[in-house]
Amino acid sequence: MNFQCAVLRGTLAWAALATVAMSLMLPRVAAAETLTADTGINWDLSALQVTADCKRELDRARAGIRTIGMRDVSVPFGEGLGAIEETLSVLQDTLSAQVFLSQAAVSKEVRDASAQCNDDVSAFSVEVSADPAVFALAQAAVKIAVTPEEQQLSKIYVENGRRAAAGLDAAPRAKVQKLLNQINTLQIKFGRVLAEDKSEIRLSPAELGSLPASLDGALKKDARGARLPVNESTFSQFLSNEASGAARLRYEVAYGRRGGLKNVQLLRQAVALRKQVATDLGFPSWAAYQLDTKMAKTPETAENLVLEVDRALRGKARQEIAVLSELKRASGDKSPFVRSDYLYFENQLLKSRYAVDDEIVRPYFPVDKTLPAMLTVYAKLLGVRFEPLEPAMAWAPGVTEFAIYDGVSGAPIGWFFFDLYPREGKYNHFAAFQLRPGRALANGEYRKPVAAIVGNWPAPEPGKPTLLSHDDLVTVFHEFGHIMHETLSLTRFGSLFGPNTRSDFPEAPSQMLENWMWRPEILKRISSHTGSGEPLPDDLIAKMIALKHVDDGVAWCRQALYAEFDLQLHGKQVPADMTRLWFALAPKLTPFHEVPGTYPEAGFIHVMSGLDAGYYGYLWSRVFAQDMFSAFAHEGLDNPAVGQRYRSEILVPGGAAEPEVLLRRFLGREVSFEPFYEDLGISRH
Ligand SMILES: [Zn+2]
Repeated sequence: MNFQCAVLRGTLAWAALATVAMSLMLPRVAAAETLTADTGINWDLSALQVTADCKRELDRARAGIRTIGMRDVSVPFGEGLGAIEETLSVLQDTLSAQVFLSQAAVSKEVRDASAQCNDDVSAFSVEVSADPAVFALAQAAVKIAVTPEEQQLSKIYVENGRRAAAGLDAAPRAKVQKLLNQINTLQIKFGRVLAEDKSEIRLSPAELGSLPASLDGALKKDARGARLPVNESTFSQFLSNEASGAARLRYEVAYGRRGGLKNVQLLRQAVALRKQVATDLGFPSWAAYQLDTKMAKTPETAENLVLEVDRALRGKARQEIAVLSELKRASGDKSPFVRSDYLYFENQLLKSRYAVDDEIVRPYFPVDKTLPAMLTVYAKLLGVRFEPLEPAMAWAPGVTEFAIYDGVSGAPIGWFFFDLYPREGKYNHFAAFQLRPGRALANGEYRKPVAAIVGNWPAPEPGKPTLLSHDDLVTVFHEFGHIMHETLSLTRFGSLFGPNTRSDFPEAPSQMLENWMWRPEILKRISSHTGSGEPLPDDLIAKMIALKHVDDGVAWCRQALYAEFDLQLHGKQVPADMTRLWFALAPKLTPFHEVPGTYPEAGFIHVMSGLDAGYYGYLWSRVFAQDMFSAFAHEGLDNPAVGQRYRSEILVPGGAAEPEVLLRRFLGREVSFEPFYEDLGISRH
């Protein structure tokens, strides 16, 4: 299950920038045009250049906004809010590399300079949102906006202004901004404490016996056994394989204490300040403030969904645990089943009952065969064509680049990059990044979008392609769904392009596409054994698919716990003791008590990194994902008609209309929760 893909445009500073426009026509495309590897973005920058460019362009944009802000609010749209949006879009275009390189540059100096640029752009975007002159132009624009896209843009700018206190008098505005800055500082500190956490556990020689070779690189062996770092990268491999219950418990305790009491304190301070901001802006809670501009709209709506899903799945979760408890007893261990036992006995169950071995599956998915085959699935589905561009013009050796063309007209659409293997200092998860949104330019041309997948598959050895697990397939197919959202959109304003929409929606398209990786006909098409070239055999496919729902109960109840904790933490009443809140919710919403001696909120980065009062979004968007998928399931996964409709009704408009409106157009009816519950095999009645 892919829960960890945050909406990654949020990791770049542009998230807070509302995008812009002038009175433009939609693109005139020359069908014969061929794209070269030159996207117009210069990736080859020194740290000094990054810093100098960043300062120069921010100064220029700041001066531009100041000049436009002095105009009378009665100016036409293009000279008021349109000009603001244009200024911010130019800034974003000019600093694409300077902001992104923090995630992927080869040089540490460049990454550091880029991280600073990212921070500076973030601060500037907050400054613009809070600017009363910009807010006044946005309010005026609401009244004179002519096209639906102008109306949507104006609405978004007004919302951003209101949320940044632009509508308050000088003194209360300054107070709110000071609080927001303080919150930002606390968030950065929290992330740093977690990133620098050096928690580890000691393992005896006997406890090392059951661990897989893939953990060898992480283990620091010595005469007494080994020490193992406790973090995300060792979590599931260790807990799935460690045969000693005592060692698993030591790991789980250390994991639940990461971030330490220092982070408990930082989170407590942030929650209190957030409540203060919400109150000053007239909201009953931080959750109400955050959800005001999301699809869910109110904390009650989000909470109802979270609790309903939990209620519906708790019985299944208990059954899953009963099966695993039986396995534990059968292993001779009569102690009660606890959370630190879960991954180990689940793994035992998969091996014994389902007999699916990752190592048998992987040779069917060599990256050099499977990735192109996946692209073919996407191309056919969405009516596009991908063309590799060699040599790539990118930020590091080994990065590959592709051009996208419309499959029918041949018109060029944009570019994407794959940066799939680890490098020192590189972003260490798997994610899609929007490098440059598309937008209409004043000269009538269209600025073509650029996006990238940054991942960390094991690097291929010479002559041997990387072999992918089924999890890897689901992840990359999901991330490529983001790439399509980030390139096939076609809006006049960059601020409304693709995933730049209500922030609890952009996971839905990618979550929908994960379904393809659970369909026999698609798995057959993208598999090709490294030795024989044979597709994945039917019996293996059947076994893999049987696993789809094997852990739904426990997994979703755990998600519900995270989401509910996040919503209550940011509710009307700030909890006096956050750890106590977590420990009270865990046995109510999941089949486990929390692990004694831990304070899990200290390591819960999502509540401090932009998903505060937003964790429910993973669950929320899954509802829409499954509803959209029901159209494909009904009309055919390969049916270009429904693929085209998805492209034109969901991807093309991006944030130019509300997600509910797009969904209604695509589905031809109101949204239904039923496909979501059906997929999980549960009835609400
Ligand atoms: Zn995602």
